Amino acid sequence: MERCIACGQPVTPDEEAMTKKLINRGITQYQCIPCLARHFAVTEQALYERMQYFKDMGCMLFPCNQSIESPEPTAPLQQKEASYE
Ligand SMILES: [Zn+2]
Repeated sequence: MERCIACGQPVTPDEEAMTKKLINRGITQYQCIPCLARHFAVTEQALYERMQYFKDMGCMLFPCNQSIESPEPTAPLQQKEASYE
């Protein structure tokens, strides 16, 4: 797991994605949300809201969006069966 370059705390994949979105997509040194908030002089709450916004946009930097195979949240389980028709 990556660690925050500012405070040394482990950073989550979400925080890695936020560092990329807010600072530089090619960055390899990450910061946790509290340190990002200090860096940008905003509240942690604001960053979490921004994070949710990016996720809702379907930003592929976030792990939760990388694993989504179908945009349909209620994709029927019988999808495979339907392909036999
Ligand atoms: Zn930190």
